[in-house]
Amino acid sequence: MLLIQGASARDIDSIEYTPPEIDFDVINRLWGFVKKTTHAPADLPPPKLVLDWHVPAFARMGFQYPTQEFPEYGMQISIAPRTIEHYTKEMVTWGVGHELVHYAFILRENDWRLSQPTFRDQLKHHCDLEFKAITRAIADQIWLIYHSDTQRAAMYDEVEKSCFNEPNQ
Ligand SMILES: [Zn+2]
Repeated sequence: MLLIQGASARDIDSIEYTPPEIDFDVINRLWGFVKKTTHAPADLPPPKLVLDWHVPAFARMGFQYPTQEFPEYGMQISIAPRTIEHYTKEMVTWGVGHELVHYAFILRENDWRLSQPTFRDQLKHHCDLEFKAITRAIADQIWLIYHSDTQRAAMYDEVEKSCFNEPNQ
C-alpha cells in the first residue's frame, strides 16, 4: 500500500452518499398503525430497512423474506437508492408503509412465527380488499401529517396500480 503523506482534498478517499430523507418518526407511527389494523402482536419487531443497489430497475423498493424456494433471502425491506432521489418524502414513506403491510400479511399467514427459517406465501396481497384498504388508510395517515391532497391522490393511484400491474404479488 502506498501511503501519501499529507493527502489533500484532491484525493479520492470516500464514496459520498446523501442519507435518505426518511422520516423515522412517521414510519414508526405507520408501523404501529399496521400492527393495529392487521391485529399483529404488539411486540412484533419491524423488519430491517436496507438501502439496496440490487433492487430491479422496474421497482422502487421491495420486501423480501426467506421461502422454501429461496431460503437464503433475508427478511428485509430493500429500498433502491434512486427511489430516495426521485420520489417525494411522502411517497417514499407511503412505499415503506406498503412494504410493512406485506410484512404483516406474510407474518400473519405464518401465524406470527417470526423465528421460522422460511415462510409460506400462498396469499396474494395487491388486489386483496383488506390490503388495499390498509394501504389507502396509510395514505390518509400520511395526509394527517403533511396535508398534501396531490400526494395522497398519487398514493391512492399506487394502490390501484399495484393491483393492476402486479396482481400476483
Ligand atoms: Zn407490493
